[in-house]
Amino acid sequence: MSLIYLDHAATTPVDPEVLDAMLPYLRGEFGNPSSVHRLGQRARGAIDEARARIAALIGARDSEIVFTGSGTEADNMAIVGATMSAGERTDVVVSAIEHHAVLNATKTLDRTRHKTTVAKAVGSGEVDLADLEAAVGDRTALVSVMLANNETGVVQPIADVIRIARAGGALVHTDAVQALGKAPIDVRGLDVDLMALSAHKIHGPKGVGALYVRGGTRMQALVRGGSQERNRRAGTENVAGIVGFGRAAQLALERGLDDARRMATLRDRLETALLDAGGGATLRNGSPDRRIATTTSLSFEGVSGEDLLIALDLEGIAVSTGAACAAGSPEPSHVLRAMGLARDRVSSSLRFSVGRTTTVDEIDRAVAAVEGAVGRLRGRTKR
Ligand code: PLP
Repeated sequence: MSLIYLDHAATTPVDPEVLDAMLPYLRGEFGNPSSVHRLGQRARGAIDEARARIAALIGARDSEIVFTGSGTEADNMAIVGATMSAGERTDVVVSAIEHHAVLNATKTLDRTRHKTTVAKAVGSGEVDLADLEAAVGDRTALVSVMLANNETGVVQPIADVIRIARAGGALVHTDAVQALGKAPIDVRGLDVDLMALSAHKIHGPKGVGALYVRGGTRMQALVRGGSQERNRRAGTENVAGIVGFGRAAQLALERGLDDARRMATLRDRLETALLDAGGGATLRNGSPDRRIATTTSLSFEGVSGEDLLIALDLEGIAVSTGAACAAGSPEPSHVLRAMGLARDRVSSSLRFSVGRTTTVDEIDRAVAAVEGAVGRLRGRTKR
């Protein structure tokens, strides 16, 4: 049974060209980039090349890219490292729909010194700008709002977020893990200070991320040791992983938005078919107006999302009930709850996310399988 993989928001398969780029660094080119001899310097050169490719994808300078061990680590570095370096300003404002990598990073900060305020979300899936504005004050060190949400795909009103943060004199961090490669990103045009990225969402390897740190931004290192990454992140670099990230970024840049347009067509085909088949009992979560191309969150009234996921898995279709890292957790999605959706609707939701390799045939087969499974689970045969 061939797998129909509709969980690209959780992770993507490594592109064969990415793997080819990585393999030499897992074989003969095993040097330590900090070594002075030529083997080490070749590894250093490969890292520099990858850094330039990632910088090019987001319009940054090479020196502004810090490699990390994951998107999660990049978020933690931004939240904790920048806030702890902000002097008199001590507080953090985040949105309620952030990934746990942001929400839980704030817990590292000493509560007696650093206050965290969580701004609400509205039904469309966007941060509530009025609530955000009310939360930002003269003690706010950092405002963190993601570029695109991982469960609904909804693109956040980041220009407004930045205007509000700047008016309050705060730094801005944005988690661009889901948006990277699917929407054009230009850190200069956006005017953010910090941006978290992850390789495995753009057909790169897992366990590699990066943080964009605008030149001049003060940020303490969280991982201390050697002077790697200009003292911002110690530890011998994951050379092969970084090279893979660089190649994945280069492919994303080359393919431009053609991929995104194709994926949006596939996502819309799936979504429209399921909404039509549901006849009012299947609902879309979040507004379709501004979304990344890949993702849709749907609720199937009267059906448990977990049961539907398992039924689809038995038929070789991979989807998820929400963020991959929250799967298996009994807690309903904090994102959908923050959007004001009732518990029943949240627990009947599934996230579908298409990718570069998804085909029309896969979409049509998945639609038929979902319709069948929903019909069975609702205890009646459809049509
Ligand atoms: N932020 C968002 C929005 C994500 O979707 C994810 C991954 O699911 C992360 C952060 C964490 O990235 P990583 O898996 O590289 O730790």
